[in-house]
Amino acid sequence: MESVKGNRIRANLIQLQESERLSLAQLQKLQRDKLRTLLLHATEHVPFYREFAELRPLIERDPVAALEHFPILTKDVVRDHFDRLVADTANRDELILNRTGGSTGQPTLFYIDRHTVEYYEAARWRGLSWWGIEIGDPCVMIWGSPIELNRQQLRLQRMKDRYLKNQVFIPSFDLRREKLREYLDLIDRFRPKYLFGWASALRLFADLMQEEQRHLRRPVKAVLNTAETLHPGDREVIEKAFQCPVINEYGARDGGLLAYECPSGHMHVNVETAWIEAVDMKDKTPVRTGERGLIVVTDLNNFSMPRLRYQLGDVISFTDEVCECNRALPLLGSLDGRETDTLVTLDGAYVNGQYFTNLARILPTIRQFQVVQTARNQLILRLLEHDQLDDADIKAFVQGIVDKMGNIELKVERVPAIERQSSGKLRTTIREFPL
Ligand SMILES: [Zn+2]
Repeated sequence: MESVKGNRIRANLIQLQESERLSLAQLQKLQRDKLRTLLLHATEHVPFYREFAELRPLIERDPVAALEHFPILTKDVVRDHFDRLVADTANRDELILNRTGGSTGQPTLFYIDRHTVEYYEAARWRGLSWWGIEIGDPCVMIWGSPIELNRQQLRLQRMKDRYLKNQVFIPSFDLRREKLREYLDLIDRFRPKYLFGWASALRLFADLMQEEQRHLRRPVKAVLNTAETLHPGDREVIEKAFQCPVINEYGARDGGLLAYECPSGHMHVNVETAWIEAVDMKDKTPVRTGERGLIVVTDLNNFSMPRLRYQLGDVISFTDEVCECNRALPLLGSLDGRETDTLVTLDGAYVNGQYFTNLARILPTIRQFQVVQTARNQLILRLLEHDQLDDADIKAFVQGIVDKMGNIELKVERVPAIERQSSGKLRTTIREFPL
């Protein structure tokens, strides 16, 4: 498939495996050079950025300083200036139209090209290579259906996954006790080297395995979490059930593959493919290392529709720590999910979603939950209904929430299923109003 399509994933992978051995100074130089090329291209060929042409001397001299003069690009701006963000050098026939899942309402459309996607893929394979996993290794995906595909397209996709990519698929929307044996048999027959899925689906699967006291018959190298925030409690349960480490991957459809966990447990930023910054949630000025801020991403390989300083909507922090694995790729300190996952108390303090998952972690019968802040003084706590759900645990959970959030109205709902986003993702905390 690769040679027929002429794709460059392997070539990019070799490149990335070489650059990961560079020193921090060498990596920074490589990144600055790529940033310079991109900014010069954008100010010449992208109508939206042409008004910044006067920055070109500064871009030549110091592209990092120049970047700060560009506005932060929100999803609304991308929507409003969609056509003006496409480079005049882009071959319109080769552009791939993509969209975000639309977890915050309207989906955002954007173009990427194959070149960019092949870098994302290569970045994933580089991360997996740190764990001894290679292109073509058998993999079981616990995954939702791509929303865009109809039945026939889906069947074709599954065939391609199975015979060209060596992947089989377990539907994440159909994880039930009655199906567990069938799925485990499938995994045992297929002998995957690793599993791949959303944290919430992996957690649900792991819970079922624990309750039924079932294990995989053959060990796997790792379980890979993508697309959802991995909470420490989830990691423990998943690692125990599958008897292997969990690898955390951080990326977004509209941001690319941004960071990868190494076996020493740190998230390394893919600096060769993206320039990322953290800015204050309200005034959007850069925050200091160690402080939490909104992530803004400049994809260093997308020349078809460059989005400079694109606000992804997630909250992160950086750390100065050096990793024992000796890779100089910089580290993320924390990954805190979406900006709208951060709740706010009556006196204005931020409460990160992590607080609630830590609470739930010590309450064994709380299996899945969602906290929705509908207004400053109103919360809904949704709990997944099941046989063992214990009133004492619910009471303790509610108390923990009130302790943190103050004297607010709290409604508890026991539901047969926690509704997922249209993308299939499960969010544990949601704030429904802007800060
Ligand atoms: Zn490391």
